[in-house]
Amino acid sequence: MPARIWEASAGRALVLLLVKGDDLLAEVERICADYEIRVAWVSALGAVRRASFGYYQQEPKSYVEMASDRHTMINGFVGNVSMADGRPFLHAHATFSAVDGSHVGGHLLPGCEVFAVEVTIREMTGLELERTLDEVTGLPLW
Ligand code: ZN
Repeated sequence: MPARIWEASAGRALVLLLVKGDDLLAEVERICADYEIRVAWVSALGAVRRASFGYYQQEPKSYVEMASDRHTMINGFVGNVSMADGRPFLHAHATFSAVDGSHVGGHLLPGCEVFAVEVTIREMTGLELERTLDEVTGLPLW
């Protein structure tokens, strides 16, 4: 199957400061819903008090869920927003580093408790992306 390609235009840019105690994933999704952002590119950096992430096993098509209760910094974060079940859905991967230089990370899950995180949401307009279950991968894809 060939790659699927969409073309979009740049929309609004939102710059956020998430505060101590916020849930990183839930807060970005809530703000996208409030601003009626349906498709976006998301980046973030800062620090969390708790990290929650997963790894998707291609066989047996399921996530292994992990968490770190250490205080960590977000060293890498890339994500997008599209629609799933009628609401904005954030798909993001992040890398978190600890005081000893060790890293953990993966597919962002609910439960990342913010210490302070700066987020940029770049809206994309002119297209609709809706996630539906892909039978080949077992993932909710466009
Ligand atoms: Zn993922």
